[in-house]
Amino acid sequence: RRRKKINTEEIINRIIQQDKVALSQAITLVESLNLQHHSQAEQIIQGCLPYANKSIRIGITGVPGVGKSTFIEAFGKLLTSLGKKVAVLAIDPSSSVTGGSILGDKTRMEDLVKDENAYIRPSASGDSLGGVARKTRESIILCEACGFDTILVETVGVGQSETAVHSMVDFFLLLNLAGAGDELQGIKRGIMEMADAVIINKADGENINKAHQAKLEYNRALHLFPKKASDWTPKVRTCSALQNTGILEVWNLIQDYINLTKENTYFENRRKEQNQYWMMETINENILMRFYNDPIIKQQIVHNKKAVQNSEISPFAAAQDILKLYFKE
Ligand code: GDP
Repeated sequence: RRRKKINTEEIINRIIQQDKVALSQAITLVESLNLQHHSQAEQIIQGCLPYANKSIRIGITGVPGVGKSTFIEAFGKLLTSLGKKVAVLAIDPSSSVTGGSILGDKTRMEDLVKDENAYIRPSASGDSLGGVARKTRESIILCEACGFDTILVETVGVGQSETAVHSMVDFFLLLNLAGAGDELQGIKRGIMEMADAVIINKADGENINKAHQAKLEYNRALHLFPKKASDWTPKVRTCSALQNTGILEVWNLIQDYINLTKENTYFENRRKEQNQYWMMETINENILMRFYNDPIIKQQIVHNKKAVQNSEISPFAAAQDILKLYFKE
């Protein structure tokens, strides 16, 4: 069946009128691997840009099983009950590497999905993490133009995608569990250092005491990091996403953060820096993509790999040989 071609002007107008169907169509274009779709997606983003930016962007990370979807469901419902419009986007590094998905497979956030003031978009797919991250970043702009004022970007805390998420959000939240060492949880020091808040989830039942103990330990650990440019001291809290306790406290501390960083201008400056970062990232991604998709380069790489394997040429000379084919000196 032939699909009707989507009119760019029309879709921009519908997004601005807060039409979620149009939003989904636009995100599909952003995620498409078809080059024609890319130019249309770019026009739509350009048209949406004047209506974007008026939101709070929150990154949420944590290892599988920590309770991210349960937390986002509870947190999202709290936010919509406060009159917010919440969009949930996900970056799933696994889908770009293995084709499988850590985030996407299960039925998630069943209640939030039904909420009229919420929009949930499963993770983007792509052939590189950089590509997936860029698509999410562009989807944020579309969601904002569609009237969503709180954007939650979810990712799995296994180390690759956090930096990308950190570069597209205002506030970075790390979900953790009590009772497992950091190594066990796969949380790298670098992720701890990026966190504006560490939330210890599953603080319920027999877990409560352990959770409070963990809170003290994380507090101590966070104080060892250098002071943040935002002037914000990272906070540690406990919550139970399942029993819906401690969720409002998380929102309160995020508001404290927003107030502080808007007042000291960090909020606005950081977004400007992030825009520059994404400009550079897009250039990097494009150069890599074009280079590696060039048929002559592809062929020469195969050829030179063999030559290197047979010790006919040094790795350095083999690389120069290939680079010269593309970057004429
Ligand atoms: P995700 O993989 O990080 O998205 O984790 P899920 O939200 O799917 O949760 C993993 C499991 O932990 C599920 O069985 C949840 O019901 C459970 N869970 C999530 N939050 C809590 C909580 O606050 N307390 C308890 N006891 N279980 C929780």
